[in-house]
Amino acid sequence: MRIVFIGPPGAGKGTQCRRLSAHYTIPHLSTGEMLRKASRDTPVGRVVGAYIDNGQLAPDPLVMRIVRKRLQRNDCRRGSLFDGFPRTVIQSELLDEHLSAMGQKVDIVLDLQVKEAELVERLLARAEVEGRDDDTAETIQRRLHVFRTQTAPVLDYYAGRGLIEQIDGQRTADEVFDEICDRIDTRLRNQEPG
Ligand code: ADP
Repeated sequence: MRIVFIGPPGAGKGTQCRRLSAHYTIPHLSTGEMLRKASRDTPVGRVVGAYIDNGQLAPDPLVMRIVRKRLQRNDCRRGSLFDGFPRTVIQSELLDEHLSAMGQKVDIVLDLQVKEAELVERLLARAEVEGRDDDTAETIQRRLHVFRTQTAPVLDYYAGRGLIEQIDGQRTADEVFDEICDRIDTRLRNQEPG
């Protein structure tokens, strides 16, 4: 089973993905984490770090290179949970191409919805606790703008394929988790075998 998890920054994707990954025993692929790691470890990566700290997206070819490499690992054979990816329509198209070459596909796309005012509040609170360099008031606004302009069209892309499940993210983490599991289990039951 391949799940794409989309939501604006601060919606709670990371928290839900960690739980979902354990519950369905599929690997959690967070491009944000992969890029942050790359930005510490390699010279090319340090260029990427500048995009992230600015609240802009990393370049599509670089993101795709990292994801393709990760998908080659054995643990991805039974499925994967994509967190924060694809973030542009081009990434969605390239992911579809890559998966279909392996006889695979995206099965479900979770659209985690939270109002902007709430997102800003949550991100500013996270900034105090975690001190992530991209959680400043100015960068938060830029990331929300990037989400509206570049990532929201990804939802339209998958809506056209009937894959979207809209989830209300403005509830407790437990309630959100239960609802997501319900939606996934219903889809699994209704899927054609194979
Ligand atoms: P959040 O969704 O809370 O902003 P993430 O950890 O998912 O946090 O992403 C942090 C940053 O990493 C993004 O603002 C962006 O710069 C970069 N990034 C993550 N995923 C992608 C992607 N698929 N394409 C391009 N850039 C990405």
